[in-house]
This record gives sequence, C-alpha cells and structure tokens, in this order.
Amino acid sequence: MIDRRMLFSSVAIAVSYGVSWLRPIEARAAEKFEIEKTPEEWRAQLTPMQYHILREEGTERPFTSPLLKEHRKGTFACAGCDLPLFASDTKYDSGTGWPSFWQPLPNAVGERKDSTLGMIRTEVHCRRCGGHLGHVFDDGPKPTGLRYCMDGYALTFKPAAENRS
Ligand SMILES: [Zn+2]
Repeated sequence: MIDRRMLFSSVAIAVSYGVSWLRPIEARAAEKFEIEKTPEEWRAQLTPMQYHILREEGTERPFTSPLLKEHRKGTFACAGCDLPLFASDTKYDSGTGWPSFWQPLPNAVGERKDSTLGMIRTEVHCRRCGGHLGHVFDDGPKPTGLRYCMDGYALTFKPAAENRS
C-alpha cells in the first residue's frame, strides 16, 4: 500500500520544484551575451546612428550606407564589438538599398522571431554583443536562398591584407 501522506509530500515537492524552475525561464527574456555594457557605455562608444540601430533595433534609411558601394575583398565586422560577421564574397546587390549578404560567417550571428510592425520577420543580431544588425529573408540568391538585409551603420569594413606573393 502506498502511504498517502508520503505520496502527497512528494507531489508537493514536485510542484514546488516546478514553480522555482519556472522563474529562470521567465528571466531569460533578457538574453545574455558575452559582451554586455550599460546604455551609457554604449553611447560613449558608438555614434548616435550606430547606437540607434545596434541597441534600439533601429533601421537606417535605404541607400544611405557607404558600405553599399564597398566592393573590395575583406570582412564586415560588428560596429559594436568588432566580431567578424560577413565575408565580402557573400555580399551582393539586392536592390533594396541595404547591404545584403547570402550567408554570415560561422558562429557570427544569432536570430530570433520579430513580430513588430505587424510582420513576422527574423531578426539578426551579433552573437557576441547582441547588437541588432537587421533581418533575414528567404528571397536571396543561391546557394542559400537567404537575404541577410543588414544595416550598414551596424557594420564596419576591414579590407583584406594585400596579397604579397
Ligand atoms: Zn557585436
């Protein structure tokens, strides 16, 4: 025979564990990143435009980024923490007015569902500092069919070193 009191107490323990277990899940709404700074620290480091995009999920006006016309070989890095994000050979002209890439570098970006502005979109951010970069859409070119639509002001360009062969 099962001792009813014992059964009750184990259920009570399970329930209380369950409840205490829920709290960290709720707290996870604010995602953690390897590089974290206060808004004041970010403001001191970034231009107002960079801050608006990276830290407030803003968007630059189309055709305003100087990186649209950047066609040299090199790497596009996060303007917030300098993590390399995209290689120049994955950049293409999407005609949208935002620098576009068909693939990020490995382990460079994170993605999450974004339902603001009445649309379901996939938000893209820097894996290391969480800085907002833009969105990814599935109307890109081969081989991935993806269009990483990036804010140029969220990126910096580093030309590849001259080949001295
Ligand atoms: Zn970053």
